Amino acid sequence: MSFVKFLGTAGARFVVARQLRFSAGTWLELSGTQLLLDPGPGTLLRCRKVRPPLEPLELSGIILSHKHLDHSTDVNIMIEAMADGGLKRRGVLLAPQDALEGDDPVVLRYVRPFLERIEIMAEGEIYEVGSVKIRPVRHNHGQVETYGIILEAPEGRLGFIVDTRFFPELPEKYEGCQLLVINTVLREWNPDIDHLSLPEALEIVKAVRPNLAVLTHFGMTMLRGKPWELAAQASEKLGIKILAANDGMTVDAKDWA
Ligand SMILES: [Zn+2]
Repeated sequence: MSFVKFLGTAGARFVVARQLRFSAGTWLELSGTQLLLDPGPGTLLRCRKVRPPLEPLELSGIILSHKHLDHSTDVNIMIEAMADGGLKRRGVLLAPQDALEGDDPVVLRYVRPFLERIEIMAEGEIYEVGSVKIRPVRHNHGQVETYGIILEAPEGRLGFIVDTRFFPELPEKYEGCQLLVINTVLREWNPDIDHLSLPEALEIVKAVRPNLAVLTHFGMTMLRGKPWELAAQASEKLGIKILAANDGMTVDAKDWA
């Protein structure tokens, strides 16, 4: 079975700090290759508590879009778990340079030898992990180096627009994605915040026209607006299938085919 499972759907610091939604990452299985995107706080716990439980030892790779805490807190423990407690050398980590080097790296040096390889992401490069090709897309998210992710697999092209400000080239970079996941922190546009708002997310959906769009990574204003109602209204208006993710929600390859 090929699927994308949203272990957590929290965005923004208050939703994460108060755990109004879980802040775990997103687990993918595509043609037998299992990947984990953005292991935020509680990822290992959620992996083991969901039914059926997910097995970190079966992961082929971990993708870190950027080093902010809500995306990276569990990266070290997930690397160790992927490597069977560090007993095996296995798995790939894809991460931006500033998550690995500089003053304040988030990936501990002592877990790095557990990995089979570490790839420092750059736009324009393609990284192969198992049966999946991964293409990073440079985002604009303040001071922190951040990449959205396009995955190419036999099941189709999947886009993950993680944290970013809107910029004019953003929609065309995700052209052709059958599944488009968008981190939608804000309900209304706010020029002071380096995150997408619902109107901007819907502009992107309208331009890309995926078979399925999933909104996730919600801040307070989105949660208060009942994301499932906002998604249903937008879906009706645009004539495109749009879902608001829930903690634990799974979408299947047939949902975006
Ligand atoms: Zn961020």
